[in-house]
Amino acid sequence: MKRFVEVEQLLRTKGVRLTDQRRLVVRRAVAYLHFTSEELVRDVKAFDPSVARGTVYRTLALLHQAGVVEKHDFRYGPPNYEVTFAKAHHDHLMCIRCGEIIEFQEPRWEPMQEAAAKRYGYQLLSHTHKLYGLCGTCQRAGAKRLAKPPRLHVEEVVA
Ligand SMILES: [Zn+2]
Ligand SMILES: [Zn+2]
Repeated sequence: MKRFVEVEQLLRTKGVRLTDQRRLVVRRAVAYLHFTSEELVRDVKAFDPSVARGTVYRTLALLHQAGVVEKHDFRYGPPNYEVTFAKAHHDHLMCIRCGEIIEFQEPRWEPMQEAAAKRYGYQLLSHTHKLYGLCGTCQRAGAKRLAKPPRLHVEEVVA
């Protein structure tokens, strides 16, 4: 709730006024850690079926433009969104079978990245780390099939 109020304030300073429907979209987006646009559409429609899919997409684009939301292109599955506003830096670990996403921080990596960028004369502005694997549940569920390492392929995973 507090984050929603902060996000709405930020949008107002950028001249963005929210209609009731857009306000609901933002409210629901803020409630999630990570979501796909279709997950958000389903979630919003559960609260108010009259909200059109286009409204959800446009509001999401608006939030993205305003720097409130970040779009993550994970290698497996549809793009994922995250309200990163006022959130500490973190990296992601993703299960390629069920799509679970875990946020983690590894403080030891940060200075190493700085050093690597510096070595090549770069000023580091941002970075993303995405680790792909199988979560504990999916390992247990597919223990037999996973005797061989999985062949990573989008179609197999998204189904
Ligand atoms: Zn999994
Ligand atoms: Zn995240």
